[in-house]
Amino acid sequence: MNLISLEPGSVLGVLGGGQLGAMFASAAVRLGFRVAVWDPDPDAPAHHLAMYSFPKPFTDRQAFAQFAGLVSGVTYEWENVPAQLCQQLEQTKPVRPSSGILRIIQNRLIQKTFLADRGFPVPRFMSLTDLKQLKEVVQQLGCSALCKTATAGYDGKGQWRISESSNLSELQEVLRASAPIGMEWIVEAFVPFERELSILVARGSGGQSVVYPLAENEHEEGILRTTIVPAEVSSPVMERAAELALGVIQHMEGVGLFCIELFLLPGGELLINEVAPRPHNSGHYTLDACSPSQFEQQVRAVCGMPLSEVRLLSPAAMVNLIGADAETIKTDAECRALLDLPGTHLHLYGKRVIRPRRKMGHVTFLADQRRIAQDRAMQFRRSLLQAQQSSL
Ligand code: AMP
Repeated sequence: MNLISLEPGSVLGVLGGGQLGAMFASAAVRLGFRVAVWDPDPDAPAHHLAMYSFPKPFTDRQAFAQFAGLVSGVTYEWENVPAQLCQQLEQTKPVRPSSGILRIIQNRLIQKTFLADRGFPVPRFMSLTDLKQLKEVVQQLGCSALCKTATAGYDGKGQWRISESSNLSELQEVLRASAPIGMEWIVEAFVPFERELSILVARGSGGQSVVYPLAENEHEEGILRTTIVPAEVSSPVMERAAELALGVIQHMEGVGLFCIELFLLPGGELLINEVAPRPHNSGHYTLDACSPSQFEQQVRAVCGMPLSEVRLLSPAAMVNLIGADAETIKTDAECRALLDLPGTHLHLYGKRVIRPRRKMGHVTFLADQRRIAQDRAMQFRRSLLQAQQSSL
C-alpha cells in the first residue's frame, strides 16, 4: 500500500509516546498533519502534543477500532511496540516501517541472522535457547562475550558481560531467574571496538534514500551519553558506513527513518551492532544542526513526501540528560554558564518523575569547529558529574 496520497491535514498515528514520539508529533504538526498518539502511559510526553490521545493498553480492542478508524497512516517510535498490533493495523492502514521489518528488528537473533545471511558484517554470535548450552556456546565464541536477551532489551538492559572470571553456573541462575518462560538469548563475541558510530538513513516508498553524516557515540553502562558530529574518522570509513546503511535498508525494503549502529575496529573495519526502525537518540543533534531533522525526514518518508537533501549546518556535540542531571542543571552554576553559551540548545522532555537511567532531556552544543563543540560537551559532563559527587 502506498502512502503517497497522505495529505497534510490527515491524521498520522504513532505507537509509543516517549520523547521520540513527541518530537515526531512536533515535526508532523509543523508539516500540517494532525497526530494521534497511542501509549498506555497517560503521562507519556507525546500525549501532550497529540490532537488525539489513546492512553490505553495496546490490547484494548475499542482503542484499536477508534485509532484505526481515525488515522490515515501509522508509524512507531520504538521497536518494542507489539508487531502483532502493527500487522493488524496494516490490514487497513499503511504502517511504515512495515510489521515485517519490525519483526526482524525486534528479535536480535533474527536481525543478526538476516544481516549475516546477506553478507553484512556483524559480531560473531550464537543463539541460546537452552541455558544448559551456555558453557558450550561461550567456549565456541571465546570467553569474552556478551549475553543479551533476544527481545525487549534496550539501553543496555537485559545484557550480561561474560569474561574469563565469570561463573557461568551463577550466570545461568541469573538468566533463569530473570527470564519469562520461553526466553531466548543471543551470545555475541565482545567487540574490542575503537569507537561506536551511528548513521541515519531515510528511505521513501519509491526506494529513494538519503543518509545523514556519520556520528560518533559514547555510552556509559550501555546507555548513550554523548554524540559528536561529524565523526572523526577517515573518508573510507565514512563511505563504508553510508554504503552499509543504505544497503541494509534497501535489503529490508524499509520505508521510514532508520538508524544503524556500528562498531569501528582498530584496523578500520566496521561491524553492524544493530538497526533501529525509527529516529534515534544519537540523531537528536539533527534537531539543531541539520536540515532537515531526523523527525521531519521521518514524517516525509512515512507520508510519501519527497525526502529532503541532508545538510549539516554546524559541527555538534549532544549530551544526554539522564536521571538526576535534570535537577543538576537547575542548580549548578557551571552547568548553567555552559547552557548560556551561544549555540547551546536545551531540550527537556517534560517527564515529571526523575528515575536513575531515565532520559530526561538533552543539550546540543553547536560551534564552528567540532573540537570546540566537543570540548563544551565534555566540560558540561564534567560539571554534571562534579556537582553530583559533591552533593553526595
Ligand atoms: P545494544 O543494546 O546491543 O546496542 O548494546 C548497548 C551497548 O553495549 C552498545 O552501544 C555497546 O557499547 C555495548 N555492546 C553491545 N554489544 C556489544 C558487543 N558485541 N561487543 C562490545 N560491546 C557491545
